[in-house]
Amino acid sequence: MTKIIPQPGILDIELYEGGASHVDGVSNVVKLSSNENPFGASEAAKEAFRKVAFDLHRYPSSDHRALREAIGEKHGLDPARVICGAGSDEIIAFLCQAYAGPGDEVIHTEHGFALYKIGALANGATPVEVSERERVTDVDAILAACSERTKLVFIANPNNPTGTMIGEGELTRLAAGLPEQALLVIDGAYAEYVEGYDGGARLVDARDNVFMTRTFSKLYGLGALRVGWGYGPDHVIGVLNRVRGPFNLSQAALVAAEAAIGDTAWTEKCRNDNTRLRAWLAEALAGHGVVSDTSMANFILARFSSQAEAEACDTFLRSEGLIVRRVAGYKLPNCLRITVGDEPSCRRVAHAVGQFM
Ligand code: PMP
Repeated sequence: MTKIIPQPGILDIELYEGGASHVDGVSNVVKLSSNENPFGASEAAKEAFRKVAFDLHRYPSSDHRALREAIGEKHGLDPARVICGAGSDEIIAFLCQAYAGPGDEVIHTEHGFALYKIGALANGATPVEVSERERVTDVDAILAACSERTKLVFIANPNNPTGTMIGEGELTRLAAGLPEQALLVIDGAYAEYVEGYDGGARLVDARDNVFMTRTFSKLYGLGALRVGWGYGPDHVIGVLNRVRGPFNLSQAALVAAEAAIGDTAWTEKCRNDNTRLRAWLAEALAGHGVVSDTSMANFILARFSSQAEAEACDTFLRSEGLIVRRVAGYKLPNCLRITVGDEPSCRRVAHAVGQFM
């Protein structure tokens, strides 16, 4: 009989069970577990999406030129060195397919995004977990973990689920200290929330061992359409374009993202509201004895005194129609990650946590 055997280690991957948006028997439910934009996508993006509905028989653009040019213009980047993917998830997967195989090591941080480890395991590479320092990326620990087998080093900046970030000087020190065969990937899924931060673009331009990933799923509110992108050196873009399927993004996704990037009034409103409500929520929770690190993203990592308390609070919030995220799988068992919602949602969360505590 045939024996079909998966990659060694692949069954170590935990199945994703988040994403629920309802609670049985509870009405007025608000989902605050996936770091989505509570205000939705810009009207311009929705309009562009609607228009595509009349042209469904055509394959989408395969070179994504219009979107890459819009991204290049917005961020001052060379469009030839931009690659688009079905979410930044897909860019991460391409990087792992292209650069990590059996015998290779992929570094990720202790509380880093799960897909880095999944990408390594799915391709037969070995994920190497590096400690953070008080929930902040520790450059010295990463450099100490590097070896001649290290192929990829993933850090999210700001990090998910901690919300913390490191500065440009630290990123530069990390890139400069890597072994020559290793590529640093700076995941900027939440970079748009940080006023004035380039997500690592300048570092990509200055070096040939740094790659940046970004997404339209967060500030741009287009999670449903799956649009992400990467920016990197020519040699990496050339490799990833060979891994990428020619029609990996739908035309609806491409045109909506292009329209979204042009609607700066909407993104500025969403960013400003997030900054204001994030500060309000953090302070309100602290007033109830639930502390958090300063978050630079669109969520807060609320810390409880124990795993039991965090889980009991999660259960209570759920009964109140508030879905937040347990992060025990990210080695943060006493924490809950709470997306910064609109103002009524933030008030509901603060009130419910107050009742619970
Ligand atoms: N990186 C980080 C750090 C994330 O939090 C997420 C979304 N959860 C992603 C990448 C992937 O986002 P998307 O595939 O929607 O672009």
